[in-house]
Amino acid sequence: EEKLEIIKKSIRNYNDFPKEGIMFWDIFSVLKDPKAFQLLKEVLIDTVKEIQPGVDCVVGMDARGFIFGSFLALELHVPFVPIRKKGKLPGCTFMASYTKEYGEDTLEIQVGSIKKGQKVLVVDDLIATGGTLACASQLLRQCGAEDIVYLAVMELEQLKGRQLISDSKCISLIQL
Ligand code: IMP
Repeated sequence: EEKLEIIKKSIRNYNDFPKEGIMFWDIFSVLKDPKAFQLLKEVLIDTVKEIQPGVDCVVGMDARGFIFGSFLALELHVPFVPIRKKGKLPGCTFMASYTKEYGEDTLEIQVGSIKKGQKVLVVDDLIATGGTLACASQLLRQCGAEDIVYLAVMELEQLKGRQLISDSKCISLIQL
């Protein structure tokens, strides 16, 4: 699609960030270009309208998932719920951990933010190994979510991250 080509051209990548040997794809380079950001908004909304009906809640992943998740929730007229890194959310939370290249990371969601049996759309900027979304899946199952759909702007296909979340539908706009 033409819109996706324009968006893709606005994505800048950085070698050796955040550490040597890693190539980092910077979604903020798209947001700095108002035309590309507008197109990305349109494509995301069109994609989400196809997933409907039945999405009860949009979950955004800390932190770049918040940017897209919030306007998608407004568009669908459903609640927006954050999954955050450990220690950022007040009140009772569910926790789940996953192993990263170096060390562990823990994610949290507030208890009661999702109701049993709901269909949840989970949004993030990029899928790499799939570890983050697999951890989100654990949290959402603890909350009683029944049906999960994952949506990411970018996917590093060679890393086969979607294999870790193969229990659910997974959509990415741009494969890198
Ligand atoms: P995963 O858990 O390996 O799939 O990594 C995905 C998570 O790390 C997402 O929350 C991304 O925001 C972040 N991430 C990993 N690599 C990149 C990148 O190249 N650009 C932007 N975010 C990245």
